[in-house]
Amino acid sequence: MQASRYDLVVIGGGSGGLACAQRAAEYGARVAIAESARLGGTCVNVGCVPKKVMWNAAQIAHAAHDAVHYGFDITLGGHDWSALRTARDAYIARLNGIYERNLGNRKVDLFRGHAAFVAPNEVRVGDTLLEAPQVVIATGGRPSVPAIPGAEHGITSDGFFELADRPQRVAVVGSGYIAVELAGVFAALGSEVTMVLRRDRVLRNFEAMLGTGLRKIMEDDGVVFLEHAVPQALERDADGTLRLVLQEGRVAGPFDTVLWAIGREPAVEGLGLERAGVTRDAAGFIPVDAFQQTDIPGIHAIGDVTGRAQLTPVAIAAGRRWSDRVFGGMTDRRLDYSDIPTVVFSHPPIGTVGLSEAEAVAHHGAEAVKVYNSGFVPMYHALTPRKPRAEMKLVTVGQEQRIVGCHVIGAGADEMLQGFAVALRMGATKRDFDDTIAIHPTSAEEFVTMR
Ligand code: FAD
Ligand code: NDP
Repeated sequence: MQASRYDLVVIGGGSGGLACAQRAAEYGARVAIAESARLGGTCVNVGCVPKKVMWNAAQIAHAAHDAVHYGFDITLGGHDWSALRTARDAYIARLNGIYERNLGNRKVDLFRGHAAFVAPNEVRVGDTLLEAPQVVIATGGRPSVPAIPGAEHGITSDGFFELADRPQRVAVVGSGYIAVELAGVFAALGSEVTMVLRRDRVLRNFEAMLGTGLRKIMEDDGVVFLEHAVPQALERDADGTLRLVLQEGRVAGPFDTVLWAIGREPAVEGLGLERAGVTRDAAGFIPVDAFQQTDIPGIHAIGDVTGRAQLTPVAIAAGRRWSDRVFGGMTDRRLDYSDIPTVVFSHPPIGTVGLSEAEAVAHHGAEAVKVYNSGFVPMYHALTPRKPRAEMKLVTVGQEQRIVGCHVIGAGADEMLQGFAVALRMGATKRDFDDTIAIHPTSAEEFVTMR
């Protein structure tokens, strides 16, 4: 077998792996990266990017319905899902090419194929053996599928992006990011959507008012919610339709498509972790310390495969900071995983950073916590019969009322939150918010005028 020596071998050419490899190469390191599928990983191919294209389409559908109330003489015809898919996939193919050229420009060697450890410092890709004192595992994850009979009749988010046409009757099983985002796309583009919740709420891990507000808006848009609905089997009838058999003898359906959106698991199959001595936690993820170090010296892990804050900017930041430290001489450089801002691309979107009210009370005690709320129908909807409410919350702590949580659901939330995340990180207090002049007329101004 042909052997090649590098300073760094990165396994996985997704968000984290590409960022880590390129930053290391900028410092002059000799870098190899292995990728078994399309460059860009989950985010570019079956995640953030195609999802945002579909979210944009859904936004346009909502706006088209609203347009008549703003005086436009438009009649909404059909929507060509298949044409949208073709345009979307062409855009992604262009991105795949750009990513490959970027690697070439930085002199990172790309090895196409499945990579596996042979020993702690040796990684095999096809017929090539890559040796390096530093190896970074950035293999990401894949959607979970429940272990129930007939689960294979359903699709996951990966399958969502392969749909050639829009299914009419859809069940979405799950209650997290992917469930509400993809349900929102289906509903806006004309599908009849049923959300199948194993408990009684969506977005249970978020500030409570966000999930409550979103569910109300989704119900007003015609989405049906089944609560305490735990799937036991998925059955396909002779006519091809699907039925979900739930606990306690309940049956839901018929559906044309059932989408599992119940979380993601690490992509570590065939990686040879046992030959490198790298251990995994109970859920299968690779545990790392504050510097992304696994329990084996010289082997590190970043991004979704570590199971922490499974977001693209987190994977990128972890990868770049790791290279800054190891090849850039920044000895203490590492990712701080606290106060990570995030957006759920629902309709309307949700933006959130910091502690929920319940978390703040648990951390600091009820006495120390003061919250400020605002709820209103955004001015845009003054002219439309649809009245989705915006809800905002500031969570403060202590005498000085330091802002520890900032949460919003409503139009524009996705673009609103980045700046507030900077303020929160800098230790802003309620007084700082009060002293900031509002931008009028916007929804964001509510954050600096709450009493
Ligand atoms: P990945 O991007 O998954 O990259 C891992 C790469 O490793 C893959 O290309 C894979 O093919 C490769 N690989 C795996 N095993 C091997 C091997 N043995 N050998 C060689 N190559 C291998 N995050 C956001 O911040 N915003 C969003 O809006 C957002 N939307 C999302 C929507 C969906 C539907 C999904 C599924 C995810 C979304 N995410 C979003 C999450 C985001 O996509 C991930 O957090 C991010 O891609 C993680 O990056 P990563 O580098 O850890 O892994
Ligand atoms: P999430 O972790 O967000 O949500 C999955 C939810 O499904 C759980 O919270 C749980 O809710 C429910 N669930 C879990 N197991 C089952 C089961 N067996 N049956 C029924 N329901 C179940 O995972 P997603 O798959 O939605 O997304 C994966 C990750 O990808 C996200 O955590 C996020 O990090 C990332 N992502 C980010 C996006 C963004 O930034 N906009 C968009 C999409 C994904 P409960 O406990 O309430 O039952």
